[in-house]
Amino acid sequence: MSSATAVSPTDLLSLEAALARILDRVEPLPAERVPLAESHGRVLSEALVSRLTLPPWDNSAMDGFAVRAADVQAAGDRAVTLRVVGEVAAGQQPSDTLHGGTAIRILTGAVVPPGADAVVPVEDTDAEAGMADLPAAVAVSRPVEIGAYIRRSGSDLRAGDALMPAGVAMGAARLAVAAAGGHGHVTVHRRPRVAVIATGDELVPPGVEPGPAQIPNSNSVALVAQAREAGAEARDVGIAADDGDAVDSLLQAAASWADVIVVSGGVSVGAHDVVKEAFSRLGRMELWRVAVQPGKPLAFARARARQGVSGAGVLLFGLPGNPVSSFVTFELFVRPVLRRMCGHADLSGRETVRAELAEPVTKSAGRRAFLRARLERSDASRTGWLARLAGSQGSHVLSALVAADGLAIIPEDVIGQPAGSEVDVLRLSPGGSA
Ligand code: AMP
Ligand code: MG
Repeated sequence: MSSATAVSPTDLLSLEAALARILDRVEPLPAERVPLAESHGRVLSEALVSRLTLPPWDNSAMDGFAVRAADVQAAGDRAVTLRVVGEVAAGQQPSDTLHGGTAIRILTGAVVPPGADAVVPVEDTDAEAGMADLPAAVAVSRPVEIGAYIRRSGSDLRAGDALMPAGVAMGAARLAVAAAGGHGHVTVHRRPRVAVIATGDELVPPGVEPGPAQIPNSNSVALVAQAREAGAEARDVGIAADDGDAVDSLLQAAASWADVIVVSGGVSVGAHDVVKEAFSRLGRMELWRVAVQPGKPLAFARARARQGVSGAGVLLFGLPGNPVSSFVTFELFVRPVLRRMCGHADLSGRETVRAELAEPVTKSAGRRAFLRARLERSDASRTGWLARLAGSQGSHVLSALVAADGLAIIPEDVIGQPAGSEVDVLRLSPGGSA
């Protein structure tokens, strides 16, 4: 194949147009106040200001002796001996003021006693680190400057300082600084609730021995995990047979709880594809053909808003049943919705890497392809990355999804790209999609 081959446009809806229609009226969910530890992974809806000054007081950075720097200035050739008059450990208020010619043993994090202006580390004395008994005297072998090994009050945070703005996700470092700043609770957006339903007469739950003509339901467990990875609370609501009543009853159960319902299978045009009709009974079907590969059939509907649910009403997604199509369409259409509901400004939350194709690829005309690919660092590549197909691109081939750590994006208007051409690769995660 030479280079990109142009093909005529089709009547399918573009990914962007579909996503815009899906995201219309989707807003961050209302805020709630939660214990700090429970905010992990969630998005702050209010800026956080420090309630405390940290360190609250001057404290020691080392185990050693609080001294007056002037008293040990002459230490060097000959050690200077000071009388040890007491001790202060972390969590104790110093009981004594330090007077000239004396030292107070001090432990890391302890309040520097009044009168002291420096700390001599235990390593620069004749005292033994960790010695239980307080020595009567200590010989200091090295001079210190005023302020040495003292962590000044307010050198980390000051009460009233901005700690972090609204809209940031709470990771380990932010949790720590919020705690240090005196916050036991924070205000974050509510997590979206996602109900996952599988449809298909052929499906049995994972671990159940499939009978003749049966296969395991592999979509639901993946979709629940994908929803959680996107920040949602998610539940597997079960498997519905290919029958309107069965789908209706699971949808109704799900709609009493969920903000978003994700159904896989049953959205094509086959006689057994009953999901679209079921969606129409709950709300308005909005669209169902999108120019992506894998995953062309996509049903979307808004059910009437339940009290307490966001203004967008309950959103219903009907994803294609093929396992890779289900995975990819969730990534492209459902994940951005969940991230917006969570309060994220970046709706993909993924990195895109520019890579050179290690081999030629082919695809259908008129649809944007998302090919399972593996990224490799390469000095030989102009971009520093090579993208190699992770295996067969059939939409039922889960083994190639596990082998992939990204999706190589091939535009609508070509039917392939040669080896060595550049593509964008959506990085699923540095460790792979698995
Ligand atoms: P459908 O979209 O219902 O026509 O299904 C397309 C293909 O995906 C069929 O081969 C189904 O057996 C398969 N499939 C549908 N749902 C699931 C599921 N939950 N887990 C695994 N495979 C599925
Ligand atoms: Mg089916």
